[in-house]
Amino acid sequence: METSGCTHLDTLRDVRPSTTAGCEDCLRIGGRWVHLRLCLECGHVGCCDSSPNRHATRHFHATQHPVIRSFEPGEDWGWCYVDEVMIEGEELRPLKPSPAPAGQPPPA
Ligand SMILES: [Zn+2]
Ligand SMILES: [Zn+2]
Ligand SMILES: [Zn+2]
Repeated sequence: METSGCTHLDTLRDVRPSTTAGCEDCLRIGGRWVHLRLCLECGHVGCCDSSPNRHATRHFHATQHPVIRSFEPGEDWGWCYVDEVMIEGEELRPLKPSPAPAGQPPPA
């Protein structure tokens, strides 16, 4: 398989999105977003560069978390801000379906 060349793939974690309601920063300020991006380091949900506030890119500049993936339904590509490469879906860990039902302890 041809790989993206991103050097951060083995640092990625199983993140749980901080929200599924939209860009968390836009929600806070009443902004609007076009597409959503998920930080694969901490689960931050931010908006894409077509959005007025570009919170996903801003999140990278603020935190240096290198890799995001699309948080749009049916899209499974990622992007590394440091290496500036697209990452194929197979190189990313699959998104965890949904959080465990309430009342159950999180998996160890
Ligand atoms: Zn990388
Ligand atoms: Zn935003
Ligand atoms: Zn992050």
